[in-house]
Formats: sequence, C-alpha cells, structure tokens
Amino acid sequence: MSDLTCLTAAALAESLAAGEVSSVEATQAHLDRIGAVDHAVHAFLHVSTDEALATARDVDERRARGEQLHALAGVPIAVKDVVVTRGLPTTAGSRILEGWVPPYDATLVEKIKAAGLPILGKTNMDEFAMGSSTEHSAYGNTHNPWDLDRIPGGSGGGSAAAVGAYEAPLAIGTDTGGSIRQPAAVTGTVGVKPTYGSVSRYGLIALASSLDQAGPVTRTVLDSALLHELIGGHDPRDSTSIAEPLPALVAAARRGATAGLSGVRVGVITELQGEGYQPGVLARFEESLELLRGAGAEIVEVSCPHFTYALAAYYLILPAEASSNLAKFDGMRFGLRVVPEDNPTAERVMAATRGQGFGDEVKRRVILGTYALSAGYYDAYYGSAQKVRTLIQRDFDAAFAQADVLVSPTAPTTAFKLGEKLDDPLAMYLNDVATIPANLAGVPGLSLPAGLSDDGLPVGFQVLAPAKADDRLYRVGAALEAMLENTWGGPLLAQAPELETR
Ligand code: GLN
Repeated sequence: MSDLTCLTAAALAESLAAGEVSSVEATQAHLDRIGAVDHAVHAFLHVSTDEALATARDVDERRARGEQLHALAGVPIAVKDVVVTRGLPTTAGSRILEGWVPPYDATLVEKIKAAGLPILGKTNMDEFAMGSSTEHSAYGNTHNPWDLDRIPGGSGGGSAAAVGAYEAPLAIGTDTGGSIRQPAAVTGTVGVKPTYGSVSRYGLIALASSLDQAGPVTRTVLDSALLHELIGGHDPRDSTSIAEPLPALVAAARRGATAGLSGVRVGVITELQGEGYQPGVLARFEESLELLRGAGAEIVEVSCPHFTYALAAYYLILPAEASSNLAKFDGMRFGLRVVPEDNPTAERVMAATRGQGFGDEVKRRVILGTYALSAGYYDAYYGSAQKVRTLIQRDFDAAFAQADVLVSPTAPTTAFKLGEKLDDPLAMYLNDVATIPANLAGVPGLSLPAGLSDDGLPVGFQVLAPAKADDRLYRVGAALEAMLENTWGGPLLAQAPELETR
C-alpha cells in the first residue's frame, strides 16, 4: 500500500492543491493497488486505466496553468456499475447487459467528470442492485477486505470493498433499501444515502424508482460530505429532483468534528434493536450512544411502531416497481440477445433473452412484482403496502418532532460467510431491516464504523435525519467519528488485516 492510497480524499485533495503530488501519481498509485489486490477482492468489473490517466493528465495540466479547479479535482473515484458511463461498459451486474456501452453519462457522472475526478472503473454489485451480499452478481463474488471468506455487503459490495481495500479513496453507490449503508457497515467504511430527490437519478439503471438514491462511499464522514456536495443538486432531467440547493454539508462535517453536540436531541429507535441483533453490534451501539451523551447530546427513546412492517411493505413495493423497470430488457434494445433456432419470433427472442440473461433473484422479484400488480391482487398487496408506507412516514414525522436525528445499528449482524444465506432469500432480506424505513420515507441516512464486534468484524452505526436536513447527518456523524477514532487511536480500517499483494 503506498502512502498515496492511504490518504483520505480530503488530504489527497490538499496535497494536489499544494502541488506536493500530481493527479497522475495519485491515480497511478490507486491503479497499482487495484493491480495488487483486486485479484483477491474483486471489487471491480472493469478498470478504466487509460481514461483515468487521461483525466489525471488533463487536471495536472489545468492546475499547472493556474486554472481554478474543484476541491476534489484529480482525486480518483470508483463508480458502481448501475450508473451509466459514456464509453465505459455498464452491466448492473447482469448478463443481460453484457457488452453494453452506454452512449451517455448519468448526471452525477457528468458532474464527476466536469470536476476532474479520474474514474478508476466500475464496481461489482448484486444483479440490478437486488441483494445484500453482492453474491447475486453474474460476474462472481466480491470479498470483504476484513476477511476474504466473507461478504462485503450488498448490493454495492464492490464500491465498499474498493474503498475499504484502499483501491479508491471515493466511490459512488446506490441505495434502494440499504445498498450504500449496509456494505459500509460490514466493511468499516462510511456510506450515505441522501434525501430522496437530492441527487439526480438520471442515468441510474432503475431498480425501484420511488426508492433509489445515489450517494457517497468513503473512509471518512468529511469525504462523504465533499462527494455528496459534488454530486447533489437540482437536475431538470429527473422529475423527482428537489429544486432547492443542498444544505451546507462540508461545513456541517467540519463543525461536527470540533464543536460538540450540546443541545442536539438524538432519538434511539426502539424497534431497531433487541431481538435478531448480534450482541457485539448492540454493545458497540450502546458505547457510541455514551460518547454522544458525553459530547452534550440529549439521548431520548422514540418508538416507530410501523417499522415492524417496513420489510414486508418494501418487498411488495420494490418488486412491483422493479418488474416494470426491468421490462425494457428484452433483447431488442441493449446488450444480450438470445435467438432460439426454432421459430424465432420477437416474443420468443424476448423470452429466451430474459430467461438466459436474468439470474434467479431477478426472476424471483419480477414474478413477485407482476403478481402483486395483477388486477385481482393490486389492492390486497401493492395498495396495502403503499398504506403501510404512509404509516412509516408518519412514524418518522412523529419521531422527528421529538429528536433532531434518529439512530440505530446499521445492520443487525457483521459480515456473514460467503454462501451462508444464498439459498435463503428471507434471511438475506433481513439484513436491511434497519435501513429500509429511510428509503420508504425518503429521508437521508449515514452509516459510520462504530468498532469491532466480538468476531473482530466491523459494526455500523446509522444516523437518520429529516428530509432535506442531510447536514445533520454530517454534524453528528463527524462528531461521533472524531470521538471513536480518539478511543481507537486512529481510523478503524487501520486495524484491518493487510491484504496479500501480487
Ligand atoms: N438489499 C436490498 C434489496 O435487495 C437493498 C437493495 C438496494 O438498496 N439496492 O432490495
């Protein structure tokens, strides 16, 4: 591991601005790290060496000419493969998109390119972002840098593992039910799901359009704030995009790290602890609460009674939306086309392509969603789920009347073994009990490392804030991070075992 790959994005940005290091050097250092460890981690589906170095050279030249650059200019980044990138393969972890090269960039990619961040490559993920372990990728498993026999979380396991293994200082994830926060929790990294509508969805391959949100995956809270400010903001190409500007996120992170939390009310959600949570996860959670209290926060207990039904509602709403969104993958427009030898009508080509191109989890959800939306069952399933969604939103409203932020463990357990839950969809779905309510209500959430459980694996602490108050995540997150790192004598990731390099 070189010194350059160990730096946080904020520190690397400062070195770049001071002329101590060039973007070409920093980018090459990360490409070398990918070359050295990704055979074991498999965080990347595609590494864009030439494009990344070309961007780096361009930024270095512009800096040399004295141009005014973005604060993160020259800092390399990895992008989840569900985000479309012009000229770079984009598969969403699916065989059905194998070989597809998008002709356009997602809005957030345009912003990344305009700011001069070299894109290192595309990261592995569960197929169409369906999963909690990245094992549903059609392109093989990603391995947790803390223990290569364990899952890196999902669906964005590739982005979290890339950041956790120092292959990239920054990454983009997407979170429909927890796919940024849960991978962050189990890899000892930081992940943020922004307020729904605050980061453009234009150019994200949709899973469930009313739940999807892109956001940062990083090693520190400040780095997430820097990236969040870059990718967020109004976009006329996304009809659900929020018109107002983002709150000041970087300022909130900087203030949180130094100013204490006096007067901040922190609500502990009764329903998101206890049964089903690993004892070590609950112990680290309690310790973090003590630190928050010590920093002047007022800890209150809040009840969100309908959260008990969140998982059930989610697994009706998500498959319903996914079955419609995935209808466009029919062998006619993108990627794979399977033509049966016998009587290849358009309909039979579509059936053969979808039959061969989609994996089991995708098929399971398309079938579930189609069923939930069918005429005779619509009210009983989809309609009821939407009502539950409203009740969950009301729970949040009531809770935020009593507290400025809400907190819980991010995931009920630490990283489990590869293969352990693959044949049990329900056990897999349960990983997201604590993250799903935020997606159903559109509120923002952050996960940061809270220490190691008894098994020596990272535990995540989740902070939730009201919609459009993402700055609160950063204030509280940065304060807690500073206190925790004080007790550990440095970042948690420094305690991860060294990866074997080649
Ligand atoms: N694990 C959840 C699911 O499978 C969340 C996925 C996501 O956030 N993309 O639906």
